Amino acid sequence: MRRAPAVSDRAFVLRVSPYGDADAVVHLLTERAGVIGALARRARAPSAKRAIVLEPFHTLTVEVQATSGELANLKSATIATARTALLEDPARLDAAGLATRWTRALSPAHVPEPEVFAALERLLDDLAGAAAPIVGVTTPTPVESALTAFGLTLLDVLGYGLDLSGCARCARARPEGRAAYVSGAGGGVACEACRRGAATQAQLVSGALLDRAMHDARSLLSSTAEEVAPLARAVRDAIDMRARAVGARIAP
Ligand SMILES: [Zn+2]
Repeated sequence: MRRAPAVSDRAFVLRVSPYGDADAVVHLLTERAGVIGALARRARAPSAKRAIVLEPFHTLTVEVQATSGELANLKSATIATARTALLEDPARLDAAGLATRWTRALSPAHVPEPEVFAALERLLDDLAGAAAPIVGVTTPTPVESALTAFGLTLLDVLGYGLDLSGCARCARARPEGRAAYVSGAGGGVACEACRRGAATQAQLVSGALLDRAMHDARSLLSSTAEEVAPLARAVRDAIDMRARAVGARIAP
């Protein structure tokens, strides 16, 4: 049987598990093949010239060879874009770690999701302070706002998007500019009638914020952590609920 050729891709490390004395099993979000598992031989061996770098939050260039088994072979992994600034701030590091766990929990294996890859890359750039300045945004990027924008996009792209335009249960429209309760576990806005008697937590979110979030999640980056807090709570609830539904754990 001929060996499959190694394929080059860009990737983020989602998880590294030690395997044997010096190897590792790594889960990667790749740009073109989605989430994959790969065996990284000698990734944990002491060597100054190691061909495999498995650090989270940097964009890696990887060479992956498919096998007949579940795990591919990771032939090489090098840092394409380093984000060392991110590593120096505990709040930014925590946000990057949470976004990585969300991505791992919700993304199906072997399904290309280039929009998830792009959204994670943008978030990590924002957190590292490397993104182009956004009009109206004072640096540094508000961490909670950036994380919430990423969470909304992740839910949207994977088909779990929160309905912010109207009640997620009865479809009654939310007039533009009108504040509303949002339930993460309930899938979006909950109108007064549907909220009564419902057991799920709901957060009151301002109309202006809901309007902006609907049209462009990244517009949340011009909001403060306090403004975004109720929507941030709903996004976390929605992701936790989806993660539980697929049997994934968000906790590290
Ligand atoms: Zn309703």
